[in-house]
Amino acid sequence: MGLVSLDDARAHVLDRVWGVPPYETVPLAEAVGRVAATRVLAEEAVPPFDNSAMDGYAVRSADTARVPAVLRAVGTTLAGQAAAAEVASGEVVRIMTGAPVPPGADAVVPIEKVEVLDEGGAIRLTSPAIVGEHVRRAGDDIQVGDPVLMAGTVVSPGHLGVLATVGVGEVEVVRRPRVGVLSTGDELVTGGGPLAAGQIRDSNRIALLALVDAAGGEAVDLGLAPDDAEAITKALLHGVSTCDVVLTSGGVSMGDVDLVKEVLDLLGDMRWMQVAIRPAKPFAFGLVDRVPVFGLPGNPVSSVVSFELFARPAIRRLCGLPENQLDRPYPAAIAVDGLPRRPDGKVHFVRVRVIVGADGRLEARSAGDQGSHHLTALAAANGLAVLPDGDGVEPGSPVDVLLIGDL
Ligand code: AMP
Ligand code: MG
Repeated sequence: MGLVSLDDARAHVLDRVWGVPPYETVPLAEAVGRVAATRVLAEEAVPPFDNSAMDGYAVRSADTARVPAVLRAVGTTLAGQAAAAEVASGEVVRIMTGAPVPPGADAVVPIEKVEVLDEGGAIRLTSPAIVGEHVRRAGDDIQVGDPVLMAGTVVSPGHLGVLATVGVGEVEVVRRPRVGVLSTGDELVTGGGPLAAGQIRDSNRIALLALVDAAGGEAVDLGLAPDDAEAITKALLHGVSTCDVVLTSGGVSMGDVDLVKEVLDLLGDMRWMQVAIRPAKPFAFGLVDRVPVFGLPGNPVSSVVSFELFARPAIRRLCGLPENQLDRPYPAAIAVDGLPRRPDGKVHFVRVRVIVGADGRLEARSAGDQGSHHLTALAAANGLAVLPDGDGVEPGSPVDVLLIGDL
């Protein structure tokens, strides 16, 4: 089978994954991290009334045009109280931060700039107040009708504050696509206990479930199926009848018991690929009962790289995210120690640790052994350096890195 380019394999997947799961309404506190399904318009202005930005005195600026000016405080307004009566010429109102500015007043003079002359309320100002100074005008942050949340936006803590301040208590968000994860292989065991001869522990499933969750999907554990056609069929049919997407790992290469391949070919319209990348060359994608099914390779690092390149963007599209947010950031970094490789017709994805260097540029260094079973380098990595076919990158030269974790 000839090699398929990474771009062609990705396009094959993304051309077939469309549609967004239905919406659901959730309370504000549960909305963070979710994708807004509909635009929200403010029905209230913020601030709702002119209020003071300082503790001080609400004044008529015209009264302070000539200084020093002696004025008379006729009352006090605290935050939470209604505005004082109209301020007449020569009068001021003592006012606290957040309290409504009384009619007639058009500026606030901070307490530090006011000299209190006597108990009777006389004060002296030595510099003129400017119209609007230290007054937060009604609607100067949000006006009625302003959009405060756009469809396709990931709701942030900042959005929660905005929504709360305009009196919105719940939001319509896209239901998380349910993504089932199935491990396959006779050699796999879960749970503790000693390993029998030839056995290994299932590590792909827990990692893939966490990646699904981090991508915005609802991770559904479909368990572990042995290399048995009937068991795999049963698990896959259960998966496609209960999930929006199904991921399998293992059983898609050329081995004697790579039965996922056989079973999926019977169940759906699958395409088997050898992608020109390393790791994660074997890959399958297709629709079973219209549900996208990803046949990820079994090697632990390969399954994660394959997830990153193919499954994650598809899941994010189903989450309702805009097209420019389907992929990870892809900045250039300096390969400080170089990242050598040999030509083999494939693009290599090298696990690297990326940091912000002293000069502010990103620096990438190998995160360890790069075999497709070497999980420790994956755990240590926050990036996949992308090495096009060739001899790799010289020390100090730039390399593009897919950021798969925090810097
Ligand atoms: P396969 O594609 O099924 O031939 O698997 C390739 C390699 O990945 C073999 O060494 C498997 O034992 C290993 N492998 C497959 N599935 C898993 C899994 N869920 N967890 C850890 N290793 C796995
Ligand atoms: Mg296997």
